[in-house]
Amino acid sequence: MDTEIHVSPIPAFRDNYIWAIHNRHQAALVDPGDAAPVRAFLERNGLTPCAILNTHHHHDHIGGNAELVAQYGIDVYGPADEDIPSMNRPVREGDTVTLDALGIRLQVIDVPGHTAGHIAWHAPEQHLLFSGDTLFGCGCGRLFEGSAEQMYHSLEKLARLPGATRVFCAHEYTLSNIAFALTVEPDNAALQARARADREHVARHQPTLPSTLDAELATNPFLRCHLPQLRRHAEFSSGRMVDSATEVFSILRSLKNEFR
Ligand code: ZN
Ligand code: FE
Repeated sequence: MDTEIHVSPIPAFRDNYIWAIHNRHQAALVDPGDAAPVRAFLERNGLTPCAILNTHHHHDHIGGNAELVAQYGIDVYGPADEDIPSMNRPVREGDTVTLDALGIRLQVIDVPGHTAGHIAWHAPEQHLLFSGDTLFGCGCGRLFEGSAEQMYHSLEKLARLPGATRVFCAHEYTLSNIAFALTVEPDNAALQARARADREHVARHQPTLPSTLDAELATNPFLRCHLPQLRRHAEFSSGRMVDSATEVFSILRSLKNEFR
């Protein structure tokens, strides 16, 4: 049996990635917002789907569930606290899902903030993290249903995973996130290098993802709120004293909302 695991992007809508975790025969689909590109990918590569893994309830992540379940009869794993169409395997923090077809084990991490029940999927043996709309390349998701405190705590949990973990997020937002990050830390050499590399990826129509947790820790302002230069930026732009990393995070997240 071929046990080698690959992760391939299936572009959808304007800037979504549906991630296919697969070997030569079977594929699990992370956040299939649209069934059509998934079906085309499976057919083109001769793959049989074995499961759907959802991170949260937004339409661009779950829109393909019903159609894929109707066609293939696969299980849908997703956050127990959210309303996920066709979900028959609700999961919670601490749960482990074993996909026998792929020989892979995925752990569930609660990461509320973007939505109230958002989860991330972590494969510790393969060092893979599917972070949905929580952790983005050089950025993080908007706070639709949670507080800044919740989101910051969620990002801190992800930041504690091994640095070599590869980060697969659900959107290609990296370049605009980098543009914002450069306004916060213009002198960060790792960030400048990432900007050059990722601009090149995009120019060649390649994904900027996955990144690694180490790269995010070195460049992503939302994972760097505990550092003095980030606090100074937050104090300067808000015009007040700031005394916690959570407050720095909250200020940066608001600045990013207004950033163009
Ligand atoms: Zn979302
Ligand atoms: Fe999304």
